Amino acid sequence: MDHPWRLQEITQKTVRQHDYTVALLPVGALEAHGMHVPYGSDAFHSAMVADRICAKAWDRGARPLLLPAIPFGVQGNTRNFPMTINVRQSHIDAVITDIVESLEFHGVKKLVIVNGHGGNDFKPLLRDLYPRTPVFLALVDWWKVGGDAAKEIFAKGGEHADEMETSVGMALFGHLVHLEDAGDGAANRSRFDAVEKGWVSIARPWHLVTNDSTHGDPRAASKEKGERYIELVVDRMAEFIVQLAAAKPDERFPY
Ligand SMILES: [Zn+2]
Repeated sequence: MDHPWRLQEITQKTVRQHDYTVALLPVGALEAHGMHVPYGSDAFHSAMVADRICAKAWDRGARPLLLPAIPFGVQGNTRNFPMTINVRQSHIDAVITDIVESLEFHGVKKLVIVNGHGGNDFKPLLRDLYPRTPVFLALVDWWKVGGDAAKEIFAKGGEHADEMETSVGMALFGHLVHLEDAGDGAANRSRFDAVEKGWVSIARPWHLVTNDSTHGDPRAASKEKGERYIELVVDRMAEFIVQLAAAKPDERFPY
């Protein structure tokens, strides 16, 4: 099958044949995911989900361009797990700023950042770049897109290497997931009520929150659940990409 949206895989001949108006940039992380899902999960998820979004949007007539995933993420408070690699937010922001400049130069005026890691935060970058580039920037934490349906699909919630993330991994790269090694995903509470209630936000030292970095019991995960969730996210996001690709950037855009 031909994948004319995958910039890494296509040639200039293909690029010259299409009028790409929207780019997607997946961003991941390189971190411990319990004992059972791989370090690259967040980059794999975001790249593979973005790829499926592009495929569906392409089928519906849009011409998105998929950029390769940035494989690193922000891990300042999670680095106590072995071989978790931290790249600072400001450094990732600088890379994305350069990518935006190139897209602008090539006439691609819309970019969707497909974030796959909860520790990355690109909203301040969007505000920072707003007055500095004509490129319209949008941000999606892809795993939140089906949040309203997650309770119907998954028995247990969580934040990391949990039932959802493990199921999604089983659906997308099952050969790298080892469910038999999964723990119970139990999490410790902060001594401060205000933190637990969410009134006060902190960078949680993840090794004090969890045992093996898993947050939420993953043991009921399945490939089928993962496929169901991905399907929902891809459908919703493909619709957005189609609308975004078709939208004319007049003075009232995006309202
Ligand atoms: Zn993850």
